Amino acid sequence: MEKVTNGLYQVGKGYQAFIIDGDEGVTLVDTGLPKKTDHILDGLAAIGRKVDDVKHIVITHAHVDHIGGLGVIRSLTDAEVMCSQEDAPAVQGDAEMTPPPVMVRFPFLKIMLKMFPEASPVPVDRLLTPGDELALSGDLTVLATPGHTPGHMSFLLDRSGGVMIVGDAASVNKKGEVVRGLFNAPTPQIDASIRAIAVYDFDMAVFGHAPPIRSGASGAFASAAADL
Ligand SMILES: [Zn+2]
Repeated sequence: MEKVTNGLYQVGKGYQAFIIDGDEGVTLVDTGLPKKTDHILDGLAAIGRKVDDVKHIVITHAHVDHIGGLGVIRSLTDAEVMCSQEDAPAVQGDAEMTPPPVMVRFPFLKIMLKMFPEASPVPVDRLLTPGDELALSGDLTVLATPGHTPGHMSFLLDRSGGVMIVGDAASVNKKGEVVRGLFNAPTPQIDASIRAIAVYDFDMAVFGHAPPIRSGASGAFASAAADL
């Protein structure tokens, strides 16, 4: 587990899920891969929280490395599960997951994706709308950042000068620059989502598959948006 800032922790290996600790309990953003929930449970224990302190689970998008742990965590808690209307059918098992745009260019990745264990379907309790302000264990503003999946969402956490929880809408290269990322393609929707994030003011950014940007993060998004 890695502490990002006060009350915000990231857990996982190769993918990140997030623990937001606050007065009202704990919010999880994403839940990692199936059968890897120990990362989350150990993270909660390390900050002195029990699993039933998890009151809300917010999902960036319906891919197995983000919703894989949802079934287990939901079975151990009364947490309210929230995601976008577009991605909810895949979370609930009513529709196939939409593969990331990179699959169009590299079809062999589809075979690799099939090697992941499947996520068990979980009912979604609340559908999120762009612009929603969620007063949870941290205050989150909901952004629609479609392209990676039809209903991908990012969340701006009002803490420590602002932390953008980007999900897989973008990534970071070895130079620390914001980029579309390996699993995205240069589609108009992906680029519009990066521009939509760049409109906001925030100090830090965290990603599904990249290390955090710990300062000047909205500037890094503005540079990326200007270069698209
Ligand atoms: Zn994804």
